[in-house]
Amino acid sequence: MALGLSLPALDLPTLQFVTFLLSIATGILFMLDALRRDESESPRWWSLAFLLATFPPILYLLAARGPRLAVLYPLGNAVATLAFAMVWSGARRFHARSVQWVAVFGGPAVLLWGTWLFARPLDAWSGGVLFFALLALYSLLAAKEFWQASGSRLPSSIVLTVVAVLHGSFYTARAVALVWLGPDDPRFMVGFGPEVATTEMLVLIVVASFLMVSLGKERSEIALHRAATRDGLTQTFNRPEFIRLAREQLRRHGVVRAPVALLLLDLDHFKRINDTYGHPFGDTVLLLFARTASQQLRSDDIFGRYGGEEFALFLPGVGAPEAQSIAERVREAFAQAGRIVQGEPVGATVSIGIACEERSRGELSSLVQRADRALYQAKAAGRNRCVRYTPETAMPAAEPAPLRIASGG
Ligand code: GH3
Ligand code: MG
Ligand code: MG
Repeated sequence: MALGLSLPALDLPTLQFVTFLLSIATGILFMLDALRRDESESPRWWSLAFLLATFPPILYLLAARGPRLAVLYPLGNAVATLAFAMVWSGARRFHARSVQWVAVFGGPAVLLWGTWLFARPLDAWSGGVLFFALLALYSLLAAKEFWQASGSRLPSSIVLTVVAVLHGSFYTARAVALVWLGPDDPRFMVGFGPEVATTEMLVLIVVASFLMVSLGKERSEIALHRAATRDGLTQTFNRPEFIRLAREQLRRHGVVRAPVALLLLDLDHFKRINDTYGHPFGDTVLLLFARTASQQLRSDDIFGRYGGEEFALFLPGVGAPEAQSIAERVREAFAQAGRIVQGEPVGATVSIGIACEERSRGELSSLVQRADRALYQAKAAGRNRCVRYTPETAMPAAEPAPLRIASGG
């Protein structure tokens, strides 16, 4: 190059041997990981891909021994193509898409058949253009799947997308250069020769395997976090998470003395629903309530299952009139949705206690206590209604609602 820098002389057989060792080690590690974790099929596909990737370097090493063994070149190419098709399939299975069997085996089969028919006598470059084009194609297909997986907040899938696009671009350029320059052109050798390509493959194996492991870990972390913070039935926040999130918001709004509202929502005569239709039916009604209420909320409202058939809703930045109208909307929507459930005239309703602070003091327990008193009043006044706590309507101090927040953390 103009700078006078030149790459160290790379020895192809050594590179091929190292690629063989690295892919076999990676394949075995992935296989162990896949056997240990049975929730995802992707590591199985990827272990297969790495194990398949052990063959091409060995086949190429053997093929270089003489023209009689030249048939091993297209065979190695076909196995490498299949390995990339497996990477693509693993990426599809990662987000539960089906494996495209015809496309998986179609590429390698067309490559073998085409090379055999049209490229005689066989040498290291027989069918090379098609081979490079297929590798590029499978890499870009894998990139598309990794990109779709990135929708579920997995940083590794974004990096994998970039890596797969880079690899796909390298092989696209390699195919074009092979057509344009031919394999004997020194410019082809410097940019796209077998030493360069084998080195690229070595780096790819290390980087991709690291990212693929991270990808699985990131997804399990998200699942674990979800399981730890959500209610198993309704998938709304569980009580500790609701309290944590509400406290966090209260602190923020406390600093700027912004309005906040807290609602406690308790299903009416729920025991009767269970007794009449059975506990599983009761679960359906709970789920229906969670869904109906969620549809009425904004994304930064915090909605959680506070326990049993009682829910809590924290509305950051919401003043009393708006809190009252949101509560009314939820009550109304559920009275509609709960009238007939699965053909049964259930008539499920909800009572809601509301506590508001025009200027947040940043404290949750007093809000909960006041919402609880208002809820008690809503029940006493006949249920299926919303009551907002005001000092005038508060119950006498002799009959305080229990400060239930303490038990929940
Ligand atoms: P009220 O209108 O005064 O709130 O009456 P209620 O019957 O709703 O209240 P009560 O506290 O007497 O009964 C609550 C019932 O909720 C009792 C309990 O079995 C039921 N429950 C609590 N958790 C679940 C659950 O996860 N699934 C089902 N199906 N029922 C539950
Ligand atoms: Mg109830
Ligand atoms: Mg209750």
